[in-house]
Amino acid sequence: MTTTECCTETNSDSQFVQDFMGSVSARNPHEPEFLQAVHEVVSSLEGVMERRPQYVTGKILQRLVEPERAIQFRVPWVNDAGEVEVNRGYRIGFNSAIGPYKGGLRFHPSVNLSILKFLGFEQTFKNSLTTLPLGGGKGGADFNPKGKSDGEVMRFCQSFMSVLFKHIGPDTDIPAGDIGVSKREIGYLFGEYKKLTNTFVGVLTGRGLEWGGSLIRPEATGYGVVYFAADMYATRGEMLEGKTCLVSGSGNVAQYTAEKLLELGGKVVTLSDSSGWIFDGDGIDTEKLAWVMELKNKRRGRISEYVEQFPTAEYHARDDSLDHNPLWSVPANCAFPSATQNEINGVDAKNLLAGGVDLVCEGANMPSTADAQQTYIDAGILYGPAKSTNAGGVAVSGLEMAQASQRLFWTREEVDAKLKHIMSKIHTQCIEASEEFGCEGNYVDGANIAGFVKVAEAMMAQGIV
Ligand code: NAP
Repeated sequence: MTTTECCTETNSDSQFVQDFMGSVSARNPHEPEFLQAVHEVVSSLEGVMERRPQYVTGKILQRLVEPERAIQFRVPWVNDAGEVEVNRGYRIGFNSAIGPYKGGLRFHPSVNLSILKFLGFEQTFKNSLTTLPLGGGKGGADFNPKGKSDGEVMRFCQSFMSVLFKHIGPDTDIPAGDIGVSKREIGYLFGEYKKLTNTFVGVLTGRGLEWGGSLIRPEATGYGVVYFAADMYATRGEMLEGKTCLVSGSGNVAQYTAEKLLELGGKVVTLSDSSGWIFDGDGIDTEKLAWVMELKNKRRGRISEYVEQFPTAEYHARDDSLDHNPLWSVPANCAFPSATQNEINGVDAKNLLAGGVDLVCEGANMPSTADAQQTYIDAGILYGPAKSTNAGGVAVSGLEMAQASQRLFWTREEVDAKLKHIMSKIHTQCIEASEEFGCEGNYVDGANIAGFVKVAEAMMAQGIV
């Protein structure tokens, strides 16, 4: 096997990738995000399939890209004006080879089957990398919580759970939060599940501390991203201290990424939301970040308000007529995309390099397009793909499940130490797999191979199911 057989293709796809993607595209013709996620993984696996022909005869890849189940359901609810509204709910059980389905719920108007299948597919490998016994799943609805009253969100969550409860359970499928689903939504969903099933069990993670949650769960994804970035820098004898950092988004992942970066001596100069982005050349320090958390989590305001509070900063409204997002042109050392999928395209990636960025560590799921990924890899910068870097959230969800089933709770320090240890193990697995398969330093291939092999072995052991 040669290095190019294993590593992500640089110019064009190999015959192996073309053949496989041809059949997946034919079966899933209108699912661009799902196809993008599959293509990224399959591009890393040719060498593995050559070394382990039993995976070819066992049709492991063909089975892996087919969700074990996909449930779609009607979610009717009544708004504050007394009108009936109808949304579409989903839950995908993607793969349960190594554990019960585990993955978040996303409430956002853009939610559709393609997006949830891409997220469920990614989740399968991510969960495998955590070293915990968790299968992959994802779900959500095309419901927009933005601008809705608490009562409306509660009625929506109750209607959503009135169907979902039949399909989930602490040993079957354990949803968590994602975009648009945080502690408030998890509370309403949990309350309805408890009422319908007459049980108080660990069926959702991201619960409040008073009702079975874990310390550090809200912080876990962002903290984990930064621990992974520190591990990547350490391979080059560098540290985050003193580095200028670009962060996008201003939700859960962005907030705690920024918090940990500040703790480790980084300088965060950007944040964003779906309406625009802010640049603060003086740095978003802990006081300013606390203000952002208040704004976003309590007042549910917009990031544009930052410049009213801190007038030396700049606000730039989103401009969809541009072929790039100017946030990624700000000169910096490292970038932490933490908003949504495909938020960095090929032009943005070139702008990042031109601005001096030598590390990209992904907080959001699949925030870089295939072009952008290739640009980082060709440039030889440190690039940590989401399925390895943002696994801290699901890892601490796994720890929340462990604590709930034992009816005991670990301290903040204990959970944080376990999180740090898991992120470091994920980093090591990526490095070791990339070395074993001849693509040293390529975290994309390393994460895909390490995540895949564990799931493939479990699927082989369990027969054709
Ligand atoms: P969140 O708290 O809802 O925040 C999402 C942020 O991204 C908000 O600032 C939002 O702006 C922005 N955003 C959402 N859609 C956007 C779009 N289409 N264009 C531009 N900005 C957009 O969600 P989150 O939990 O931080 O999740 C962020 C990313 O991390 C997602 O890709 C998610 O799948 C991933 N992730 C999350 C976790 C977790 O534990 N929460 C774990 C692993 C991965 P608005 O407020 O304007 O909508």
